[in-house]
Amino acid sequence: LTEKLSRLVKEVRGQARITESNVSDMLREVRMALLEADVALPVVRDFIARVKEKALGAEVVGSLTPGQVLVSVIQRELAATMGEGVSDLNLAAQPPAVILMAGLQGAGKTTTTAKLAKHLIERRKKKVLTVSGDVYRPAAIEQLKTVTKQAGAEWFPSSPEQKPLEIARAALDYAKKHYFDVLLVDTAGRLAIDEALMAEIKQLHAALNPVETLFVVDAMQGQDAINTARAFKEALPLTGIVLTKLDGDSRGGAALSVRTVTGAPIKFAGVSEKIDGLEVFDAERHAGRVLGMGDIVALVEQVTAGVDMAAAQKLAAKVKSGDGFDLEDFLDQLRQMKKMGGLSTLMDKLPSQMSAKASEADLGRAEKEMKRKEGIICSMTPQERRKPELLKATRKRRIAAGAGVQVQEVNRLLKEFEQMQGVMKKMKGGGLMKMMKKLGG
Ligand code: GDP
Ligand code: MG
Repeated sequence: LTEKLSRLVKEVRGQARITESNVSDMLREVRMALLEADVALPVVRDFIARVKEKALGAEVVGSLTPGQVLVSVIQRELAATMGEGVSDLNLAAQPPAVILMAGLQGAGKTTTTAKLAKHLIERRKKKVLTVSGDVYRPAAIEQLKTVTKQAGAEWFPSSPEQKPLEIARAALDYAKKHYFDVLLVDTAGRLAIDEALMAEIKQLHAALNPVETLFVVDAMQGQDAINTARAFKEALPLTGIVLTKLDGDSRGGAALSVRTVTGAPIKFAGVSEKIDGLEVFDAERHAGRVLGMGDIVALVEQVTAGVDMAAAQKLAAKVKSGDGFDLEDFLDQLRQMKKMGGLSTLMDKLPSQMSAKASEADLGRAEKEMKRKEGIICSMTPQERRKPELLKATRKRRIAAGAGVQVQEVNRLLKEFEQMQGVMKKMKGGGLMKMMKKLGG
């Protein structure tokens, strides 16, 4: 979440219901986040209206705050808008199943054709033929030949002297005669929406009767994606979208625009120039990216894996039985943090807006400090760790010397420990378990 948005989440906390007034500030922020992610304005407006309606009807149950409920409504709606579930390629046709690739020049059609060929061969055990209808650039035909080889599929020769329709018919004939399961048809690029080229691809569509007509769109295209999508949608009955170049640093708002305008599911995401850089599109995950929430899912998973439930339980039992929270437990906590991958890996997973604030230097310092704290506690005797009240000036000096730090640093650590002890006392055992469970999802 953007910084402002997460502050608003906190502000809405403590209120029992989602109301017009507490929701509108947050929605204003969500609107900004979507516009920053290059979602087209009309799409943003529509989306916000839908979220508002759903949020006002949503109940705030259990220990959730209205802010949290709202965020979950937003994310769910975003994911639902971009498509739900997995939708692989539809091959339900009399073989060969024809897949027609459409999109602007440079969108990634040729690259994606080869990626799909590889996907179909490896995952679905299909016999795949590719053909290029891009007769305007000889280099484009060669390009498809090269990447098709890399994919391990067969390439059907074509040349600039032929007409695209002629090529397509010949390839289809060949595919039928040689029992190919799938024919992938790459088409000519359009720099912009061009009447003649649109007419050509419509003709190709009519002649080939493809089971899939995929619109390939560059995720970096931004606001303009909506116009391109509209034009292709008007020309062709699109059955799916491939969003390419998601490895770039765009927030990928184009996904929302394109999906809304075409109504077609986003089936795949291109994540590198390489032939294996294709992933099944994950709407849930992408929703986080568009909102700028980073890889929250991965973060939660990592925290879950890192927290040692057994250790937490032991600690909880101890606090409950009145043994109190000592420096030994404090050390355990420090080590748990280290187990979670250290601060810098955690920060990597956080939204860029949040992690940008903590510079590399800050992180380095924080991690070093954690090590020093560990060093200080390790320089104490077991007795001292269990009874911190024993720590008077001479002992502190000895510990500081042992850990190679100043006495002030030992004092600072003890103060921090006392604060933590206070928190532990308040929470008693049950509260702690609740907190760990929350962390663990
Ligand atoms: P076409 O004109 O639509 O056929 O586009 P191409 O397939 O020739 O791709 C245009 C450029 O984008 C090439 O340099 C590709 O390597 C690159 N490209 C395609 N898909 C991706 C992707 O998912 N990630 C990255 N980083 N580059 C891509
Ligand atoms: Mg091409």
